[in-house]
Parts: sequence; structure tokens; C-alpha cells
Amino acid sequence: MLEGSLFEKKKSKVTKYINTPEVKLEIPEKLLRRSSLSIFPNLSELEVVRHFTNLSCLNYGIDNNIYPLGSCSMKYNPKVNEALAELEEFIDIHPYMDEEYVQGALRIIYELERFLCEITGMDGFTLQPSAGAHGELTGLLMTKAYFEDKREERDLVIVPDSAHGTNPASAVMAGFKVVEIKSDRRGLVSPSAIKQFLNGKTALVMLTNPNTLGLFEEDIAEIAHLVHSVGGLLYYDGANLNGIVGVTRPGDMGFDIVHLNLHKTFSAPHGGGGPGSGPVGVKDYLVPFLPIPRVTYKDGSYFWDYNFPKSIGKVKCFYGNFAVLIKAYCYIRLLGKRGLKSIAEISTLNANYLQKRIEEFLEIPYKRLCKHEFVASLKSFRAKGIRALDIAKRLIDKGFHPPTVYFPLIVEEAFMIEPTETESLDSLDRFVKALKEVVEEADTNPDIVREAPKEHIIKRIDEAKASRTLKVKWQ
Ligand SMILES: *Cc1c(COP(=O)(O)O)cnc(C)c1O
Repeated sequence: MLEGSLFEKKKSKVTKYINTPEVKLEIPEKLLRRSSLSIFPNLSELEVVRHFTNLSCLNYGIDNNIYPLGSCSMKYNPKVNEALAELEEFIDIHPYMDEEYVQGALRIIYELERFLCEITGMDGFTLQPSAGAHGELTGLLMTKAYFEDKREERDLVIVPDSAHGTNPASAVMAGFKVVEIKSDRRGLVSPSAIKQFLNGKTALVMLTNPNTLGLFEEDIAEIAHLVHSVGGLLYYDGANLNGIVGVTRPGDMGFDIVHLNLHKTFSAPHGGGGPGSGPVGVKDYLVPFLPIPRVTYKDGSYFWDYNFPKSIGKVKCFYGNFAVLIKAYCYIRLLGKRGLKSIAEISTLNANYLQKRIEEFLEIPYKRLCKHEFVASLKSFRAKGIRALDIAKRLIDKGFHPPTVYFPLIVEEAFMIEPTETESLDSLDRFVKALKEVVEEADTNPDIVREAPKEHIIKRIDEAKASRTLKVKWQ
């Protein structure tokens, strides 16, 4: 028995679950420390505290300054959602507990599914997938099951060249063939580009809207009509919903499947490697294929329902990353309808303000009204022997996290900026000022830009070494 632990205190509530045999914790021999304590340096508590405090200050995060990483929605997430996800009532439950003891948790899952249906205009959702790419794979597996059920042989997935790399990767993993179509001069997907690949073999067209240039696809209604007229389905990569949430819905635009990234738009901090959550929503004709189990509500209680014979099965152990779901649930309830809409309004306003300020000194190849992000091209700096990467590195010296570079691939020396709705005017202005300073230095002191970062503890690193000399085994 875990004496004196939290479990002990709550014994009366959970006796049923702690009647397990006594567990003896044994530290493996090779991990035992045999030498005496003299191996530790003789430091005072203060010295140790300062050491670790100073180490913690070497990190950069959204709590330090703006994090304008395009296509990542690195926004500030209210701390209250963290506190709520950490409540004992949540962290002390286990997925194997009987439904009657976890009605609250099931209700959160059930209601969050309903909220996401309303936000996206879909009829059913699964909260199982643990990231955006995982959501894509889930959507593609459902597409496959849907056509198998209809006895239709369709193996083609169409993806535009501006798509996130996970789109074609997920399609190939699910066993589809992928064709890439080119964006047009507007930076958009044109119906004529899609049309040539639409036939009885087309299973799915995957679109990101607003696309990765931050532009809203203008021909979306026509594209949806074309895809459906050959019996295909339309997929919405909604990883970054910031630009449209509360204003318009993928379901109303004609999409059949959508995935969202709760760790981008819905208040789960990310950047440290997870955990994340990539829920997938579908229209009613695809609901039977959603992963099982699904939470159902009947006669006043919630329970796990496995009775969906056409389901693609489980895509994750247990039921998804529950703590992330709690944060999204609280965030949506705190903001309400009006608040959600303001995410779209302010993130769009912030991005357009930044675009206007930045177009004074950087080239914006697809200069149009943008949504939550936009992309500059730094190709004119090549003549000076300076690349987008150099400008990005010099921003670190100025105390700023750089934007995304070299994505999307259709923009040369791409510099992809997403301010998000949580930045103030003052913070946007400070970012513009720093970026402008770096751009000026490219003329006045190009060496310092090429060698940046100079004033940071980590200097220029070998960008390729980690992937070329892969070392994944811990010894
Ligand atoms: C981030 C992102 C993804 C992938 O999401 P992960 O959670 O990193 O797997 C897919 N598409 C777009 C447009 C994205 O921005």
C-alpha cells in the first residue's frame, strides 16, 4: 500500500482501486549510486538556486516575448487552464476506472466534442488523435474505410504545393497515391488546377484554408462542388484555426473532414514536444467510421460505446490526451461565442498590421489581405550573401524568437510571420523595430548578420548534424 500518499487520504473514495498487491520499488543495480556524496561539489543552497535560476533564464518561450513562428500559433495560453487541468479530481483518475466514477471526465469529452462540432460545422468528432499529423492519418483512414464500405476503389489524394508536409506524408502512410497541384499566381488553389486530377479514382482533396500563405481560398465553394461531383471527399487541415474561428466554418464551406490542433488554437501550450491533441470532425455520413470507443449519453449518464461496427477502431491507447482536452474545454467555455470570434478578429488584425509595417522594408510576394499570418521573401538579400536563416539568427541577438523560415516551399527564402491575437500593439511595434534594425545591418554590417547569433550563449550551430549523425540511443 502506498502509505501516507494521496491515495491513502482518498481511500474511502477509491478503495476499490487500491486493493492491489504490495509493490516493492527496486532500483536496478546499475542505477544505484555506490560512491560517496563527496562527488558533489560543495555548494551552498544559494549557489545552487542561482545556478538553476540562471539556467532557466537561458530559455525562450512565450512568457518571455513574442514568438512569431508562422503556422504554429505560438500564442499565450491562459495559466488558469493549466491550473484547472491539474485539479486532483482530474489527475487522480485513471482510464480503467468504471464509468460511474468518472462521469465528470466523460461529460467534458462529450461536451467538448459538441463544442468542436458547432465551431467547425461538423456532425461528429473524435478526440483520440494526439497531434495534427495523427488527426490527418485518422481522417485518411476514415476516408479509406468509407470508400471500402461503398465498394469504390479510389486511391488518389490531391494536395496543393503550399500544404504542410504532413499532408502528403499522412496520405502515403494511409496507402494512398499523392498528386501535388501548383498554387496559382494569387497564391491560391484554382479550380482548374484541381479539375485535371478529378476522376473516379479521386478519394480526397486536402486543403488548408486559410492556406499556409495566410490567404483565404476564394474558390472554395466551387472546389467543393467539383470534388463532390466526382464522388470525392474534401479534407480541411484546420491546424491553425485562429484566422476563422467563430467567423466561418469548414462544414459550411463544403468540407467533409476537418482536423484541429488543440495545441495551436485551443490553449494547449506547445513547442516543447507535446503532448498535443488533433481532434477530427466529420459530416454525418462519415460518423460511423469514427474511432471507438465514443462517449454516449443515455438515461442521465455518460458511457463508452464500442458498438460502431464500421469504425476504423482505436487510433490511440485509452481516449486521447485528456489533460489537453480539459484545457481546450475550459478555454472555449471561458471565451464563449463572442470571445472565440475575437480570436479570429484580433489575430487577423495583428497579422495585417504587421504585414503593412513590414512591407515597407521586405518583399511580400503575395501581397493581399491576409488572415492570421503572412509570408515575406528575403531572396533579394542573396545578392549581399545573406539568407533568410541569417536574418532569423540575428533576431535572436535582438531578443526575439525568429519567424518560421523556408516554409512554405513555394516562397523563396521564406519568412513566415504569425503574430497571433495575444500580442499587443506595443509588442508588435517592438518586433518590427528589431526586424528593421537587422535588415539595416544587412547593409551596414553584413558580417555580424552572417555570424549571428553573437550575443547568445548558443552560437551558430550545425543545422544538419543532428539529422545526419542521428543518435537516438540513450546509454
Ligand atoms: C502544425 C501543422 C500540422 C501538423 O500538426 P502536428 O501537431 O505538428 O502534427 C499540419 N498542418 C498544418 C497547416 C500545421 O500548421
